[in-house]
Amino acid sequence: AKASGRGAVKFFVEDMALAVRRRRQLGVALRDALANAELSLAYQPIVALKDGRATAVEALLRWTHPGFGVVSPAEFIPIAEETGVIVEIGAYALDRACRDALNWPAHVRIAVNLSAAQFDRGDLEATVREALARTGLPAERLELEITESILVGNHAEVMTKLNRLHALGVHIALDDFGTGYSSLSYLNDFTFDKVKVDQSFVRDVTLPRNSKAVSIIRAVNAIGADLNMTVVAEGVETAEQLQALRALGVSGAQGYYFSQPAPADEIGLILLKEMAD
Ligand code: C2E
Ligand code: CA
Ligand code: CA
Ligand code: CA
Repeated sequence: AKASGRGAVKFFVEDMALAVRRRRQLGVALRDALANAELSLAYQPIVALKDGRATAVEALLRWTHPGFGVVSPAEFIPIAEETGVIVEIGAYALDRACRDALNWPAHVRIAVNLSAAQFDRGDLEATVREALARTGLPAERLELEITESILVGNHAEVMTKLNRLHALGVHIALDDFGTGYSSLSYLNDFTFDKVKVDQSFVRDVTLPRNSKAVSIIRAVNAIGADLNMTVVAEGVETAEQLQALRALGVSGAQGYYFSQPAPADEIGLILLKEMAD
């Protein structure tokens, strides 16, 4: 038992060393990813449950490296945040998304994810303003998705920044709602336009014995109605989940059930087809 224990430790240490090495290599490769045109955006519709039509489209970064292949954003975004290259990559995503959205019906908003590192830099407001000016996208068509990681830190400073962004006319959505720990206090001080209920709750919403997810979504929905925030459920994969969310009165949803993230031109066709129906 002792020998196998030691063996397990040895493999664990080797795995750790491999993981650290991959992380470092990806960090180096990410520096050139923009210049080498390895990054692109995929888009996923966010639909209104009342008619199934898209109200917004979320932009999701994709990275294909010649050596590493397709690297998931769940892996490379944290690395980009750590090295700081997310500031450049984030500005690219913002610009690209605004440009692509201009080709789509005007009632469809474009949602772009922001990292804490972008938010911490003093000039995020300028970056957003410039992206809008450069692309000509009306501010009210842009939605910025922020997570609770952005909200920790100097409360007054965070509030000032959120209010400045809001004053530009862009919408602010609180992403991954329910997975952090400070959301409720922030809801008291800032009126988000939208709250996105994390997919972990949606996953459990149809479990017969887990009514907790149902209670939580019902509560978020009540808060949303009171505070005038749109509530969107993330990660909807089945008709059963959709039905449960409808019964709870949730107004919007996003997930594989409706559409996988897809390239800009494909999403454009879907949106045009919706208009014609
Ligand atoms: P997120 O913002 O919560 O984005 C939703 C994630 O859920 C996306 O993963 C999306 O592809 C996935 N998803 C959509 N529908 C379903 C579904 O029905 N089931 C399941 N299981 N998943 C679904 P993705 O594209 O891998 O992105 C992962 C995360 O990476 C994002 O989570 C976001 O935090 C980050 N990310 C992606 N693009 C950007 C970006 O441009 N900037 C920043 N800062 N972060 C980004
Ligand atoms: Ca998001
Ligand atoms: Ca999310
Ligand atoms: Ca997430």
